Amino acid sequence: MLFYLKYFNHDVEKLHELISFFFEKIETENPATFTTSLLPAWYSTTVNRLEKLESQLTHFLSLSKDDKTAIIKAFSNGNIIGTLFSNKTRRYAHIPVASDFKKTNADGSFDNSIEVFLNELFVDNLYIGQLGKKDSTFSKKIGCNLGNHFIGLKDSHAVSNEDFSLCPFCGIEPIKMINSEGRPDYDHLLAKGDSLFVFSSINLKNLVPIGDHCNGKKSSQHLLYSDKARTTRTISFYPFDATQNPYELYHFELICKEYPDYSNLWKGKWEVNIKPNVSSNRRIADKIETWNRVFNIKSRYEEYLEIHGKSMLDKILRTIDSSKPDLLMELKSELNNLLTKVYLYDYIFISTEEGLIPKRIMIEWYLKDEAYLLSYLNFKKLMPANQININSTLFE
Ligand SMILES: [Zn+2]
Repeated sequence: MLFYLKYFNHDVEKLHELISFFFEKIETENPATFTTSLLPAWYSTTVNRLEKLESQLTHFLSLSKDDKTAIIKAFSNGNIIGTLFSNKTRRYAHIPVASDFKKTNADGSFDNSIEVFLNELFVDNLYIGQLGKKDSTFSKKIGCNLGNHFIGLKDSHAVSNEDFSLCPFCGIEPIKMINSEGRPDYDHLLAKGDSLFVFSSINLKNLVPIGDHCNGKKSSQHLLYSDKARTTRTISFYPFDATQNPYELYHFELICKEYPDYSNLWKGKWEVNIKPNVSSNRRIADKIETWNRVFNIKSRYEEYLEIHGKSMLDKILRTIDSSKPDLLMELKSELNNLLTKVYLYDYIFISTEEGLIPKRIMIEWYLKDEAYLLSYLNFKKLMPANQININSTLFE
């Protein structure tokens, strides 16, 4: 991913905390019956009851001691999100899923009742029915919802001059504008569907705003397993990591596969590579690999260059004075200007300037290839006759 977000504390975290609180009570007090004293105080002091949740927690208490312990352990191990993203050692190799709870009874019959219960509790009721719904009973109880969380998250970034308006995973698509377009999608980093990572379905540390396209790409891939069947564990950039931003850890390399010229309408064909700044850093290389596998970043940047490279250069040419004697110098000076003053390799530029990375690497390539710039100026009939590059006439 391109940049990290600051984790933002907000009342919508209370739903996940309610479950943590309840499980802790079960472990320490082992009660036989459900009462609201097993829930945090805010639950009883606010209006309305989460009736379905109360009945599900009552059902939980009726499960065997072993089943209760196993569920609480899975909940605890499945919610150390930041650790799971950077650690794939044996201890963290398996991330608990609801389907772990399928079992065969003593009489040989198949039993998925706990698996079904976990999906109903965490996904159907708590996420879809409560946290994900704007006017749910939970929203009414705490007086806010995920939309308010998004506004708070945005504002907290604006306050510290690290505002963002782009998808942090790609930087080439905007995050929806909440008032006119609706709340942006929140991606479950660990997917909640298909009987998978249900335990973190309402944990805000597992939920991050994302662009529509990246969200679509992500739905068919896992961040922490390199295959669909979840046999090979891997690591990934974690969106709320508080360390060096990802863009400070790698650099991009642009290779021209087909020279942009008359024959391909000056679009060219490109190859983009992403390399760790410290070439021996295998962990960063693994995170880059996950980023590209899940979000198809290299191909998207390559196509971005094909689509936007020519028009970007055309627009730049419109801004320079064509009466100047040395147009090539004028153009190069403007390209340098863009790199050092407009498309800065810095958080606020990367998080708000659409396509900054592909634009930058394209400009760097232009600056390295003077012959190309001359041929393009010639094609645009901007070069005086005495400066026409011999090679460039071949393209016409
Ligand atoms: Zn995106």
